[in-house]
Amino acid sequence: MIIIDGAEGEGGGQVLRYACALALLTGEAFTIENIRGGREKPGLMRQHVTAIEAACVIGGAECTGLAVGSGRIGFRPGKVTPGDYHFAVGTAGSTGLVLQTILVPLMLADAPSRLVVEGGTHAMAAPPFDFIERTLLPVINRMGPTISARLVRHGFFPRGGGRIEVDIVPAPLRPIECIDRGARRSVSATALIAGIPFDIADRELKVARKVLADWPADAFATRQLPAEQGPGNALLIEAEFEEVTEVMSGFGKLGVPAERLAQTAAKRMAGYLASGAFAGPYLQDQLLLPMAFAHGGAFTTVKISEHTRTAASLIERFTGTCFRVSEREDGRNLIEVIR
Ligand code: AMP
Repeated sequence: MIIIDGAEGEGGGQVLRYACALALLTGEAFTIENIRGGREKPGLMRQHVTAIEAACVIGGAECTGLAVGSGRIGFRPGKVTPGDYHFAVGTAGSTGLVLQTILVPLMLADAPSRLVVEGGTHAMAAPPFDFIERTLLPVINRMGPTISARLVRHGFFPRGGGRIEVDIVPAPLRPIECIDRGARRSVSATALIAGIPFDIADRELKVARKVLADWPADAFATRQLPAEQGPGNALLIEAEFEEVTEVMSGFGKLGVPAERLAQTAAKRMAGYLASGAFAGPYLQDQLLLPMAFAHGGAFTTVKISEHTRTAASLIERFTGTCFRVSEREDGRNLIEVIR
């Protein structure tokens, strides 16, 4: 039985999700205390409960203490059973984070799966659908599996109501080296709006244009969704290279000026572009689990995030697999699976 202090390291929901995934992949039971102890409002939120429930359903697991607000759960995994599954977060809780919990166990199962997940698709502090589809899955697919994702309906904070569908055809994972991005193919910045004034998109794009001043004028566009999918607003900034596509995002929220979210997302993209690294700040921690189960591989990245350090130490505890982080002469960080 592995005992985890949920306040350690990043101290958020990621510890919980990766612990569930690792338990399903290794057969090791765990107990976690001080759940999300590093967050302002500790304990399980609705979206974490859904993610753990999803892990229980696909993995025949038993979980004690599972309730909104709970600070401690015990998780005993069973056998992962691939199949057709439908999970609904019920709020704007992230569909992508439910997927993050069960994707690796299902892509190493012995038959295909089809998932429908309902909830938020473009909400703060979580991977938006575009990142999953364009950034994460193409890299994972290069390791062997065939995973495709469709966005059926957008879901924004606070209403949710989004829907994604994911098909997973498993395959053994093989190690890959992700060192260089290759040549740049295209760039775009899209302001998504649903049921909110058009000028919010204009203000976001104006700021993005200023930060990404060498991008062509036609790279910046507004996409208006049906009002009934809103209210909602997201800025998606994408750079496609031969070997990888990175998507940086900002999400609208009452009280957060459009200019500020655009500035943060555009600067994040500018930093990534200047670094020459393969993986941006969020792809980093999300590549560790598949790479650990490929028993090898490496990638270059920007500054190492706390999410990455936390995920690496959790993976080591469950599997014994370690990562080596080194700074290369060109300033990029290299993360390698070493065992
Ligand atoms: P936590 O904060 O512990 O709930 O974990 C959040 C997870 O979502 C981590 O795996 C992050 O890498 C990921 N994430 C957060 N924001 C983004 C974003 N804008 N784009 C892609 N992934 C994100």
